[in-house]
Amino acid sequence: MISIGHEIPEPAETSFADRGLKLHGLELVRVGLPLRDPWTTAAGAFRVRDSLLVRVVLEVLGDGEGGEQIEGWGECGALPAPSYSSEYTEEAARVSVDRLVPALAGGGVARACEVIGALSATKGHNMAKTAFEGAFLDAELQAAGRSLASYLASASRARGGQRTRVTAGVAVGLAPSLGELVEQVGGWVAQGYKRVKLKIRPGQDMEVVAAVRERWPDLVLAADANGTYAAIPFDEAVGSLRALEPFGLVCVEQPLADDDLLGHAELARRTELPISLDEALSSLSMLAAALRLGACSVANIKAGRLGGYLEAVKAHDLCNEQGVPVFCGGLVETGVARAANVALAALPNFKLPGDLSASGRFFEMDLTSTMALGPDGAIAVPEGPGLGVSVDTSAIASFATWRLWCPVGG
Ligand code: MG
Repeated sequence: MISIGHEIPEPAETSFADRGLKLHGLELVRVGLPLRDPWTTAAGAFRVRDSLLVRVVLEVLGDGEGGEQIEGWGECGALPAPSYSSEYTEEAARVSVDRLVPALAGGGVARACEVIGALSATKGHNMAKTAFEGAFLDAELQAAGRSLASYLASASRARGGQRTRVTAGVAVGLAPSLGELVEQVGGWVAQGYKRVKLKIRPGQDMEVVAAVRERWPDLVLAADANGTYAAIPFDEAVGSLRALEPFGLVCVEQPLADDDLLGHAELARRTELPISLDEALSSLSMLAAALRLGACSVANIKAGRLGGYLEAVKAHDLCNEQGVPVFCGGLVETGVARAANVALAALPNFKLPGDLSASGRFFEMDLTSTMALGPDGAIAVPEGPGLGVSVDTSAIASFATWRLWCPVGG
């Protein structure tokens, strides 16, 4: 019997705890951050990362008037268009204004663990909700003087301790030619990355994987189909994917449609390839069903898709208890989400390197202090309070395309 979910503890009490926290206000900021290179998948390409950020301002209640204010930042993983999931930035901003901010402001919410519950009257929109939870986590943990990584480790049931460094990886989009793809991969390998995930689709798979594997026999290599094999007959998809078996892939991710758990289970029975799921894992319940059906032997954990970092911890624990290793996915995020993802990936069952790359992977100029790739191919888990990185508010101001400050109360 697979059980899901458990109580998540609140952060340890601190010197602030006896004074309490109060929500002072929320700010929504939309930024247009130019990418180094266009990001291309089977669903399309974009050159500018249109992202929604959330800034929460909490007031630390003191003895006198006008308590100290602490701000925290969160990032919505929704892409500029509904190409990865149905969520996209424009809609995330709209639902935040219309529904999520009023629910938090009206609900007296001041603690991160209350955020997702307070937003439950709005269905879906997990990525937008996660941005709010992330901002509250950052602010509350700063008030508590505690790092996000340490808090998530204490919230997990898994034993094995918290990593101090996480192995980095790059996801490489579709390239116009095989030569350009090999050149791109070569650039990342030269920078010190030890794990690469290639985007594949029918007709653009075996030769892609073979070319990279031939050039780098020891590289940790994965492939991500983003559901594209759903467009061809099932037996043909099985044949195409089985042709990838000789190349030592750590997994092939989401070959079939988002909701096709039965198809993935059948595919897993017919190939030696480890199957990973991404888009399919839209909730803890979907993850539990996928595990029960044998639809995946690896899970890609994305907090935004699952509806929060605390949900992601539960997903990690569920997989851990089933002996299924996980890795942390990415959504072309800025340093705000990357810092939170690195903290999440410090949990012990993140046994496979994820899509966590250093600050320079996507952007010439990021929105936080730098997270650098070490000679070991890993990124240090931030140790400071909250996200543990400094958010560059002047960079945010210069890339902002829209912002809305929403004060709470009087
Ligand atoms: Mg994926």
